[in-house]
Amino acid sequence: MPMMTWSRLTLALLGGDADACYNRPDAGRASRGLGAEHRFFLLSKQVREGAGRVVMHGHLEECFRQIAPPADFCSLRFVHERSEVLSVRQNVLQPVSASEDIGVMLTVFEKGGMGYAGTSDLTLTGLRRAAEQARTWALQSAGRSVVDFANILSGPPHGDYTSVEQIPWCSVPLAEKIDLLQTQCACLKIDDRIVDWEASLWHTEMDTLYLTMDGGRVRQRFHYIVPMLSATANAGAETHVRTFGGRGYCRQGGLEVLDHVGFRTAGPRLAAEALQLLTAPNCPSGTMDVLLAPDQMILQIHESIGHPLELDRILGDERNYAGTSFVTPDMFGSYRYGSELLNITFDPTRSEEFVSYGFDDEGLPARREYLIHNGTLQRALGGLTSQVRADIPGVANARACSWNRPPIDRMANLNLEPGTSSLEEMIAAVERGVYMHTNCSWSIDDSRNKFQFGCEWGQLIEDGKLTTVVKKPNYRGISATFWHNLKMVGNLDTFCVMGTPFCGKGEPNQVIRVGHASPACLFVDVEVFGGE
Ligand SMILES: [Zn+2]
Repeated sequence: MPMMTWSRLTLALLGGDADACYNRPDAGRASRGLGAEHRFFLLSKQVREGAGRVVMHGHLEECFRQIAPPADFCSLRFVHERSEVLSVRQNVLQPVSASEDIGVMLTVFEKGGMGYAGTSDLTLTGLRRAAEQARTWALQSAGRSVVDFANILSGPPHGDYTSVEQIPWCSVPLAEKIDLLQTQCACLKIDDRIVDWEASLWHTEMDTLYLTMDGGRVRQRFHYIVPMLSATANAGAETHVRTFGGRGYCRQGGLEVLDHVGFRTAGPRLAAEALQLLTAPNCPSGTMDVLLAPDQMILQIHESIGHPLELDRILGDERNYAGTSFVTPDMFGSYRYGSELLNITFDPTRSEEFVSYGFDDEGLPARREYLIHNGTLQRALGGLTSQVRADIPGVANARACSWNRPPIDRMANLNLEPGTSSLEEMIAAVERGVYMHTNCSWSIDDSRNKFQFGCEWGQLIEDGKLTTVVKKPNYRGISATFWHNLKMVGNLDTFCVMGTPFCGKGEPNQVIRVGHASPACLFVDVEVFGGE
């Protein structure tokens, strides 16, 4: 369906503007007494200058009451996202970049059909045009859709959610954040053989408002931070990279996250490990045990549990592009996905995790649910539409990457619950195996079944002890059997809350944030192989 396009505002900022706090107490005073049309232009300017959030919400609510068409259902979803990326590479500050994106999506159900239209024209006229366009599409799709949207209606949602943020990004001056990155970057350059090194921070603030014609109102505000470190070592033909969990230490919150994840101390260790890999032997090949650190477990969970359990994928919606799933609708409630130690939750309630929220983008209240309990498949990653369509229990996971994309079934926080084994106990249980850290490559088939994954760093486990560091550790398996070989699950001491900013799916494509938390886990009888 067509989108009304809008230009994404990207600015290069080198001054203090980037640190301007978002809201001002006097925001919107100038708009009193003006009509909605005129008020928008003042509001638009204030929002782009970093003010006026509350007034913008009021403007949208007032407009929505006026433009909601006579239909079975209509909703307005407003998204305002501001991001800033700071990076120091090879001890040189890179151009500071900031981006801002603001707009709404109107969704209409009418006569069993559904239509939507996105717009960044937030005037009364622009919103009315989008609502009319959405209604036209709803009428045109009525009777021609695989879903009868007359059955999808739920009660009006009400609520708020705000990220827990102890040290707000905007409370620390830009110069201070750059100094921090200069220091961390310098810590990575521990040897002449470190040929590239970088420290960066990516902060995003997102403000959303969801309104329904039957009086629903959900307001959510998020702060995301993605800390990144990398060190590249080279000697002759050997080049190895160690990173700070890829971008895996992404979380919700403020600058306090940096201390929670060890950002200020990780640099020298990562650089030393990159140097170690230059002279390390190849990972051996053969069938053996594999101990996976959390920064590889998140990829394993994401690809071979998360994507296969997306209900729209199971129903075939993604077959044309992202693929299908080896999981079929009849498996829910009885299928043995893995060993009894496998417990997977959809958990939007862990405040520090990357994708916690109170409501999904269709206004469904979010709560923690077991998708896999003691190894048995219980529930799908499907929002309300997919749940009704498939008659399978799901979760509140209809999510859109922005105002100009419709919500589809996505992972949010998808976690492997901790077990009882200490790291030492798991190592001691291995006669011959490899301890692998930090995903660096992944390949998995269309149905998310056969896979092979590679890690940055490996260490042999021989007769219950960690021994030789090895380079290019890889392993392959089949989702439908791999999880049955889960032999030990790490306890809370091995548990790490992580995620990824980049999960792609949908046509047109949507790249979205996903949270994953996992302990270290031990798998037996895995096919392991090294590099060439
Ligand atoms: Zn993904």
